[in-house]
Amino acid sequence: MTASGDSCDVLIVGGGLVGSALANALSRIPVRTVLVEAHDPAAFAQPGFDGRATALANGSRRILEQLGLWSTIAGDAEPIDSIHIGEQGRFGAARIRAEAEGVEALGYTIENRALGAALWKPLEDAPGFACLAPAKLATFTGGNDAVTAEVDVGGRALTIRARLLIAADGARSSVRRSLQIPVRENDYGQRAIIVNMTTEAALAGRAFERFTPQGPLAVLPLARGRAAVVWTLGHAEADRVMALGDAAFRDELQAAFGYRLGRIERVGRRALHTLSRVRSDTLSDRRTLLVGNAAVSLHPVAGQGFNLALRDVATIAEIIADDTASPGDRADAGSAQVLARYGEWRRDDQRKVAWFTHGLIRGFGARAPGLGALRGLGLVAFDLVPGAKALLARHTMGMAGRLPRLARGLPLS
Ligand SMILES: Cc1cc2nc3c(=O)[nH]c(=O)nc-3n(C[C@H](O)[C@H](O)[C@H](O)COP(=O)(O)OP(=O)(O)OC[C@H]3O[C@@H](n4cnc5c(N)ncnc54)[C@H](O)[C@@H]3O)c2cc1C
Repeated sequence: MTASGDSCDVLIVGGGLVGSALANALSRIPVRTVLVEAHDPAAFAQPGFDGRATALANGSRRILEQLGLWSTIAGDAEPIDSIHIGEQGRFGAARIRAEAEGVEALGYTIENRALGAALWKPLEDAPGFACLAPAKLATFTGGNDAVTAEVDVGGRALTIRARLLIAADGARSSVRRSLQIPVRENDYGQRAIIVNMTTEAALAGRAFERFTPQGPLAVLPLARGRAAVVWTLGHAEADRVMALGDAAFRDELQAAFGYRLGRIERVGRRALHTLSRVRSDTLSDRRTLLVGNAAVSLHPVAGQGFNLALRDVATIAEIIADDTASPGDRADAGSAQVLARYGEWRRDDQRKVAWFTHGLIRGFGARAPGLGALRGLGLVAFDLVPGAKALLARHTMGMAGRLPRLARGLPLS
């Protein structure tokens, strides 16, 4: 890009998992996209690309397949063949198997680092795409025909005009704040400790969800014989456990999880995440759309944030693809119609998934007929299990709504 006055159709702010997935989707249609990311993607030291892992649902696999990304992702993605729901007092042991559900796998676990690398690699020579990183969106103004953005590239100011600005800048979105879009926030009073481990017995495609009095403990299979652990605890307890040495930490994790996988042999670097839900009141304003965590950020143990966001991505790409394919005047990716369609289409899915996840964590599920079992499933698995999804859909009056083409396994255009 040159020093100033450059223009594009879409300016994406944020190149985390969601921004980079969106850039891939848009590179398949005739629009000029610029992505601005504060960190250097080559280092993959971004918050989204740390030691965490993501459980991908089958619907996400379909989207990633259509974007030509799955073949790269598959090598690092560990299939989840079964999910064991732990008893700890309240729930009887339950086991869900891919075979019984008639699917190849219930889902796939992949480290964010590997997922990020797979999403960024094709962008190196993606058509119509330019990236500014490390670079930071400083300010922007929405006008009648375009958004004018000031981007800080290593202390140098760059002006970019875009028909549409898409905020993929995370749960604390500065774009959302600048637009003064109100948010609703719930603090769960919990923290999640994220750590990878190896165990005496191989996971062999098994995922586990154990409920402890402090919160759920999820163990997911990872490539190369490792397991990804998400351990939810109250604030004080999480801080205490984080401060333990590796041996003491391993003992406490073993006590909480039990011996289903034999002894825990090694634990990796731990990371701590405070759990909250943040929902923005609206998804668009003045030639700007919110996507991913900027739109809705969920309790992470629910394992749905990225799966939900990929449906946002597929929807935006479809709306813009249809808009650019329409005859007549030059297409306008940021027109009022594009913004309104996105809001109408995505609001329902986002609201219901956020509502349902919140309910699962708050525990209302135990009181609603039929939802008690789902609560057990829900924290890790409900997005992965066809039966659970069907039950969820019944309880939320048709949550899925109309799926975008990519999520139905169809090409974008
Ligand atoms: C512990 C944990 C476990 C999870 N497990 C799962 C799971 O199993 N399945 C699932 O589907 N989801 C899961 N999620 C949720 C998922 O990780 C998130 O939904 C997803 O990472 C959100 O990505 P994002 O790109 O919207 O936001 P982020 O990852 O926050 O990325 C935002 C990006 O924007 C950049 N940025 C911000 N401001 C600016 C600016 N002004 N200029 C330029 N760049 C900027 C940042 O540098 C960052 O790279 C989990 C989340 C957590 C915390």
